[in-house]
Amino acid sequence: MEIKEQARETAKELLQFIRESPDCFHATKAQARRLQDAGFEELFEEETWQLREGGRYFVTRNQSSLIAFQVGKRNFKNFHIMVSHSDSPSFKIKENPEMEAEGWYGKLNVEKYGGMLCAPWFDRPLSASGRVAVRTKKGIEARLVNVDRDLLMIPSLAIHMNRAVNDGYKYNPQKDMLPIYAGGEGKGTFLEIVAESAGVNCGDILGHDLFLYNRTPGTIWGAKEEFVSSPRLDDLQCAFASLKGFLAASHPDSVQVHAVFDNEEVGSCTRQGADSTFLNDVLSRINSGMGREEEALLRALSSSFMISADNAHAVHPNQGDKADPVNRPLMNQGIVIKYHGGQKYSTDAVTAAVFKELCGRAGVPFQTFTNRSDIPGGSTLGNLLNSHVAVRTVDIGLPQLAMHSPYETAGVYDTWYLVRTARAFFGSCLQAEKGLCRLEEA
Ligand code: ZN
Repeated sequence: MEIKEQARETAKELLQFIRESPDCFHATKAQARRLQDAGFEELFEEETWQLREGGRYFVTRNQSSLIAFQVGKRNFKNFHIMVSHSDSPSFKIKENPEMEAEGWYGKLNVEKYGGMLCAPWFDRPLSASGRVAVRTKKGIEARLVNVDRDLLMIPSLAIHMNRAVNDGYKYNPQKDMLPIYAGGEGKGTFLEIVAESAGVNCGDILGHDLFLYNRTPGTIWGAKEEFVSSPRLDDLQCAFASLKGFLAASHPDSVQVHAVFDNEEVGSCTRQGADSTFLNDVLSRINSGMGREEEALLRALSSSFMISADNAHAVHPNQGDKADPVNRPLMNQGIVIKYHGGQKYSTDAVTAAVFKELCGRAGVPFQTFTNRSDIPGGSTLGNLLNSHVAVRTVDIGLPQLAMHSPYETAGVYDTWYLVRTARAFFGSCLQAEKGLCRLEEA
């Protein structure tokens, strides 16, 4: 197949993955399904792990973060780790969500989850998904739920009632952002609709983690079909590419690790976030599960490598002055290596060099990103993970526009570039001895 065809096929697969993944829980389930189809065995944190050479496993925490790994030899040298995140900015549905307006509308009480662009959430069909905790005969069961139909809308105020709105407007989440879902007799039925979708009695729902999501399907567009737009490209584009590369390659001297964390958009400080013990716990248990000493783990970590993959800003066509004067990523021009003097990105000279080598082997272009020196920018996963698991790390991402909109835009070629680079990464083993780094292929 031609490069163009392969890239478009990969973009279509990405959109299918995103359709299955309206929230962090479903994104985890969508990955678990693909891993199980590929023969991976699910492990549970509460059980003893008996690992074997050549074994392929995955484990989840809170149903919203996932770590998959493949062990080659018992005396493996290191870990090759690629991380991304499963959550994206949205509105979380609050406890006792039912509200009424004008004695007729049914609307929902919601709060912000993460730092979103508010304006694009208006005037488009939305739905709700996530999970519910249900009382069953066996105990409390956490069950995923997706209403999976056009159910909600956050209507704009007409221009006639605020003529100044186009001069800039400060959105009040408690007043402006509450979605309606019913008029007249439908009001007060939201939790019944959720219960019906989950296949349970409303009275048995003891708790919920539910989010709004955009119903507009993803699309491939542009003069040469070069763009892809969809909800949740940040960061499911990287999570998808990581998984696809992970499933396609291995090296017997390394343990390949694909990890996707929840709660990146709210600072990662949760039981299952990047700033938790999850990755460290799993790596320790891989080491002990293979019958190795503690020192073997520390030695392995010292020659391990991590790719922290979270989407990057492409230069905006109408706002070029917001980008750094020199480092100006464009969509479809390659994977973006991110740098930050204050170390919000973990990239350094050596880790960037290793990553550039990988891109070269994969035949994939790369670009660089830095913030303008007068704009602070965002944060991501790599440096938080490094405070728990100290390994050489590079921060990278795929260039996109409209980050944190419920409908984002990226390049069709870039997902495919990252799949290829992930495959090259998981198919090699870093030799890091006495200050010298070298990538060895299988
Ligand atoms: Zn992100």
